[in-house]
Amino acid sequence: MKGTTHLAMGLLTGFTFGSPTLGVLIPVAVGSLLPDIDHQNSILGKYLPLGRYIKHRTWTHSVYALGLAYLINPWLALGVASHIFLDMLTPARVPLFYPNRTRFGIKFIKTGGPLESLLRLGLCYGLFLSFQAQQDVFFANVAQTVSIWTQYIFNFLT
Ligand SMILES: [Zn+2]
Repeated sequence: MKGTTHLAMGLLTGFTFGSPTLGVLIPVAVGSLLPDIDHQNSILGKYLPLGRYIKHRTWTHSVYALGLAYLINPWLALGVASHIFLDMLTPARVPLFYPNRTRFGIKFIKTGGPLESLLRLGLCYGLFLSFQAQQDVFFANVAQTVSIWTQYIFNFLT
């Protein structure tokens, strides 16, 4: 699946299972893109070229990566889970227990194909509706976060 589809799915998962706050949305967004760091042309892979060292769709798409992400941040893990779930719908599927090569999933949506475009459109629409319904909480959280950081920087400088 493409990065934008993963991002839309990750954010929608964050809105659905978490809250519309930066503390949820930022880690869930990063988590939704993180497994494809093993691909040189992915959104994060362009900045951190680990694709040279890690074979695509191996351990970064496994339950171990999910567990590692959980140790860092549960919302990061939710993003990774949403990524793995979507990749399980593609023909290549996912080796959940890598280095065991058995791949799990159903061959349903071809990466970059018309079904993925349709899915992405649906996810973006869901995201739009979720955001619209929860924007008050979101903007209050952004204002609060900016206020806390401004105060922190102000205290640091004075
Ligand atoms: Zn992937």
